[in-house]
Amino acid sequence: MNLIDRIVQFRAEIQAIRRDLHAHPELAYEEHHTSDKVAELLARWGIEVQRGLGGTGVVGVLRNGTGTRSIGLRADMDALPIEEANRFGHASKHGGRMHACGHDGHTAMLLAAAKYLAETRPFDGTVNLIFQPAEEGGAGAQKMIDDGLFDRFPCDAVFGMHNWPGYEVGQFATTPGPMMASGNRFEITVTGRGAHAAMPHLGVDPVFVAVQIVQGLQGIVTRNMKPIDSAVLSITIIKAGDAVNVVPDTALISGGVRTFDPAVTGLIEERMRRIAQLTAEAHGASAHVTFERYYPVTVNDPAQAAFAAAVAADIVGAENVFDRCEPTMGSEDFSYMLLARPGAYVQIGNGDGSHRLAGHGEGPCMLHNPSFDFNDELIPIGATFWVRLVEKFLAR
Ligand SMILES: [Zn+2]
Ligand SMILES: [Zn+2]
Repeated sequence: MNLIDRIVQFRAEIQAIRRDLHAHPELAYEEHHTSDKVAELLARWGIEVQRGLGGTGVVGVLRNGTGTRSIGLRADMDALPIEEANRFGHASKHGGRMHACGHDGHTAMLLAAAKYLAETRPFDGTVNLIFQPAEEGGAGAQKMIDDGLFDRFPCDAVFGMHNWPGYEVGQFATTPGPMMASGNRFEITVTGRGAHAAMPHLGVDPVFVAVQIVQGLQGIVTRNMKPIDSAVLSITIIKAGDAVNVVPDTALISGGVRTFDPAVTGLIEERMRRIAQLTAEAHGASAHVTFERYYPVTVNDPAQAAFAAAVAADIVGAENVFDRCEPTMGSEDFSYMLLARPGAYVQIGNGDGSHRLAGHGEGPCMLHNPSFDFNDELIPIGATFWVRLVEKFLAR
């Protein structure tokens, strides 16, 4: 691997910062300690710092030479509401909160790149180092854009990077076009009429109706959608009733929908509304449906994805870069940045979990698992990638 020696030299310093962030995870829009730390380090390294975008967001700005071109590099900072199962030294000290998606590592890799870029300034133009809040469902990227991110800090292109268990350390993946699905969530409230469970004929049982709606919804993906299109419809919540001898008044069905195409999302929503409402009506109940599109599809600009893949190949070899990787049905709010500016989202292999220290939980080292930990081997690899991306994008 062609890593930058200087970054390898100061890896221990950045690793200590990463582990401190891991031990002090903060949820969406509460990243106060994290953003204080980021801002303090950037300032210490001589980087201009702007705060307050999207609440706790931080932007570091590095200018060099007379070039007018600019690039944005984005890391997310928030943790998840998960109780950490790991018991090693840097395990979470905040009950019920955990860096289970590795955003501590994303912040650390971008900090390492920032330190090196500030020391050496090997580019001509402007680098915007974007540390965003609330990736996990809070749309922090959109909040930063609403607060003028790309007006105040123009970016000709913007790039995001996520650690990815399942790829080996030293591997990268990206693809032209759609890379991650849109995220959508729905809630269906079925209203019947409560009754004594021994006299159901005097009421309208919303549990019976809800079960039939759940069955009917399964037909959308298998019977209504074009087989060549992709979608997931997962019903993850069913709630009704408090007592075995009472037919409740209402039942709640809730879940998520992922697709790569707004037209497919539209079809699913339309079918869902009809199935819920007409099934309920058939049984004398009613159904109220809310359908919310929270993250759009993450779509890479083909030219920028090819550029990022070429930069990665120079570091780890072309055989370790999947430049047409399989998209995932997960979703990402970096999609909002890619709607605003051309760019690409890149995955960096996090390995199989064998890097975890003694005391890790028994679960797999997968994203959003309580036994996950970011692999610190990625600090010099990811930071080298960021630096080479900048050098080549803003070549003198
Ligand atoms: Zn996540
Ligand atoms: Zn994540």
